[in-house]
Amino acid sequence: DARDSKSRGGNTVSVRVRSLAPNFFLTMGVVMEECIFCKVVAGDISSKSVMDTDNVLVLKDIAPKAPIHYLIIPKKHLQDLRSFEDIDSNLAGELLMTAQKLSELNDGVPFRILINNGHEVGQRVNHVHLHFLAGKELPELF
Ligand code: AMP
Ligand code: ZN
Repeated sequence: DARDSKSRGGNTVSVRVRSLAPNFFLTMGVVMEECIFCKVVAGDISSKSVMDTDNVLVLKDIAPKAPIHYLIIPKKHLQDLRSFEDIDSNLAGELLMTAQKLSELNDGVPFRILINNGHEVGQRVNHVHLHFLAGKELPELF
């Protein structure tokens, strides 16, 4: 982290640079963009994680849609799967393997992975996350 805060003419100029979370910052006291999951990753919002590795964080969803509802979140800020590049392919694999581990931790429970990519299809947090849903019979989607 590099933090820099200076007072100029009564206004506070605050710039925060994070290598993993470059997407939120304050300029002239105005929040340009915020990402709730980046804040969780940075520890700015306290949360109890289910799993925490170098690249991946798993949280319990605050509004669970199933008895088991985890969110698998990459620590790197990527808006959705459309933002992934070749360099992120290992991470993509890690996210899926995290789902496998979560099932293992729950006695091999069957599960559904759901990823919303874009506001029109239901994405409300613009930091890619995999919904891990389990613990009850889920409705057919199609
Ligand atoms: P989506 O609609 O796919 O973007 O899903 C966002 C999910 O994040 C929703 O299921 C929310 O309940 C969940 N959520 C939002 N904020 C938090 C938080 N601070 N901790 C855990 N889950 C959250
Ligand atoms: Zn983010």
